[in-house]
Amino acid sequence: MIIVMKSDILPDSPEVEQVIKMAERYPDVHAEVRKIQGATRVLTEIYLLGSTAQIPQEPFEEFPAVEKTIRIRERYRAIGRHDGAEAFGFTYNGVRFGQDTFHIFPGLCAVDSRQNVETMFRALKDAGIVTTRAGAYKPRTSPYDFQGHGRACLPYLFELAGKYGMKVIAMEITHETQLEEIGEALHAAGNPTGVMLQIGTRNAQNFELLKLVGSQQEFPVLFKRGMGITLDESLNACEYIASGGNNRIILCLRGMKTNFGDPHRNFVDFAHVPVVRRLTRLPVGIDPSHSVGKKSTAPDGLLDIHHVTAQGIIAGANLVLVDFHPKPEEALCDGPQALLLDELELFVRDAELVRNAYLARVALREELGR
Ligand code: PEP
Ligand code: MN
Repeated sequence: MIIVMKSDILPDSPEVEQVIKMAERYPDVHAEVRKIQGATRVLTEIYLLGSTAQIPQEPFEEFPAVEKTIRIRERYRAIGRHDGAEAFGFTYNGVRFGQDTFHIFPGLCAVDSRQNVETMFRALKDAGIVTTRAGAYKPRTSPYDFQGHGRACLPYLFELAGKYGMKVIAMEITHETQLEEIGEALHAAGNPTGVMLQIGTRNAQNFELLKLVGSQQEFPVLFKRGMGITLDESLNACEYIASGGNNRIILCLRGMKTNFGDPHRNFVDFAHVPVVRRLTRLPVGIDPSHSVGKKSTAPDGLLDIHHVTAQGIIAGANLVLVDFHPKPEEALCDGPQALLLDELELFVRDAELVRNAYLARVALREELGR
């Protein structure tokens, strides 16, 4: 059961203590207090865990400081919407993320050289963008392919991020040591930027890694949906992260591995944007680059990458992760799907156009009340 306190009630207030005291009078029940940053307000929620089926809701709802109680369904206990819980939201390094926000993360699939990072960041700064992607640790299909520069590139990556005002860099990790390396390098550089830990599709069911990122509070997590598992299995993976104590998670759709999506690299799954928003309290991202995997142009002159991006945004996506590269022909990873820097303006303006159309659709529905 979740007990949602009224908006002015703080986690360490006597009102919260009173509720916990009453809850813990029931056998095998314990309470956890969580601060939730919803779309419009910060809420204190008390999660009652254990044998909660025996607990009636009414006595809790009689407390003046309690707004409502919500029965937790078995599915997605930590990330689920249940019956009316608000979406999670969080602010990280000055950037807010929620089911009501929208951010584009254009950047390098993999860091290859200082020069390319600098050129990329300069272009982002000129475009007023403070969120980016940059892989240092790259899990690759072939052991002979470029595996990322790893720890060696972090000092210049973070230094340049500070120089060009990048606030959040999405970066994949595959192992605990990489988490430590990122923390140390950020610290050594004077914390000039923030890192969002990416869990790649290949690690979507690496439960030890999920528990690791769930048990730390320093970094938020960008979880890439598993390419060969069901949506339910991916949501359970996010549940691993959240149940460890870190609910600063964004679920990112990135396409499914099947030949049915040919000629795209993966079968685009952005129809699941509203599904994830309905089933969970998480913001939802899309990765059009790894979904489409190439720069094919439609007869209207727009790329397939533009079209699938639009499909995700028009359905309410909160984040777009997209590959760019100053010289894709020289990229050490995923060059063929990278957009050029002089294609940044079109991408961003097209995405904003569609985001505004999404907001207009929601407003229209509200106006007509259907
Ligand atoms: C990536 O975003 O760099 C990546 C490898 O994505 P995915 O794990 O979705 O393949
Ligand atoms: Mn890639």
